[in-house]
Amino acid sequence: MSEVRELEKVVIIGSGPAGWTAAIYAARAQMDPIVFEGAGSRTMIPGGQLMFTTEVENYPGFKDGVQGQDLMMEMRDQALRFGTRSLWEDIVEVDFTQRPFRMKSSNGKDVVAETVIIATGANARWLGLPNEEKLAQSGGGVSACAVCDGALPHFRDKTLAVIGGGDSAMEDALYLTKFAKEVVIVHRREEFRASKIMADRALADEKIRVEWNKTVTEVFGEETISGLELEDTVTGERSEISVDGLFVAIGHTPNTAFLNGAVTLKDNGYIEMPHAWRTETSVPGVFAAGDVMDDYYRQAVSAAGTGCMAALEAERFLAHGGSENSDPETAEVAAAD
Ligand code: NAP
Repeated sequence: MSEVRELEKVVIIGSGPAGWTAAIYAARAQMDPIVFEGAGSRTMIPGGQLMFTTEVENYPGFKDGVQGQDLMMEMRDQALRFGTRSLWEDIVEVDFTQRPFRMKSSNGKDVVAETVIIATGANARWLGLPNEEKLAQSGGGVSACAVCDGALPHFRDKTLAVIGGGDSAMEDALYLTKFAKEVVIVHRREEFRASKIMADRALADEKIRVEWNKTVTEVFGEETISGLELEDTVTGERSEISVDGLFVAIGHTPNTAFLNGAVTLKDNGYIEMPHAWRTETSVPGVFAAGDVMDDYYRQAVSAAGTGCMAALEAERFLAHGGSENSDPETAEVAAAD
């Protein structure tokens, strides 16, 4: 069990690729980081969204792919190897109004830190159906990330469903046409929310058809998904379709509620980054990395990249004695090695 020091140099909140990469860099830079990995809940566990993924084929360095959970364990072990301390607790309260920053953990610990890296990620929204969750966790053909999972052999030349009517659903459906025999977009209204260009592109694709005004009421299948029960939102009529894969694309929720306004957020709840190509938030000394600040790329490798950036910026901030004399627009970041 790791101990919390009286004054931490850097506290990292979150244990996905962004958090662990920040920890690896911070630990190697002698910043003695502590990671609050998270207490775990029904929809999120320490390690983040990759813990719900099976095969990851687009993380560089693994030519044969790597299991999401294995990748996260490797990152964790790498961070611990360099002396990172970690706790299976959440940070539930923050006070960033003065330095050092003050926080409270879910076990009631008071945490005081010179710098903070927020890497709490975003949760993919799910439909909330029991078999959806089961098959998503077992690798049974249900996913919330087409770019991550769509190219897996299981989905080749099959009929795949995409749920949602936003840009993500369009993008996922178009991406999946590269592999699938047919892609069925299931949308709860009779018009898409997506931008016209994306919607038109999807509607023009001959492999894509749309089930308008439909919600999914049941996911069928034991080991792997076999079909969906749909309900017509206008008539209430129920129907069934056979599918071999389900991609839920109904948006993400960034994990920023615990911040309670302590850093500036964008309208969609993601952390605002005031300076291009920097990870400092609206509060000097508080940095953000990974999906919690990225509503655009949302990839493990980009999260890891911003985790690295956040640690380097925190190191520089401390090297300047926590002063704001390092103009983030122009500052050069020192290499950690
Ligand atoms: P979004 O725009 O919020 O769309 C979510 C979609 O899911 C909506 O069509 C919504 O239906 C549907 N939905 C929500 N909850 C549902 C539920 N419980 N059951 C069934 N359907 C449900 O989310 P997004 O598509 O992830 O996009 C998020 C942001 O990223 C947007 O600003 C988007 O433009 C941007 N983005 C851009 C690109 C791109 O430019 N290439 C790609 C991806 C995302 P309703 O329409 O009925 O509300």
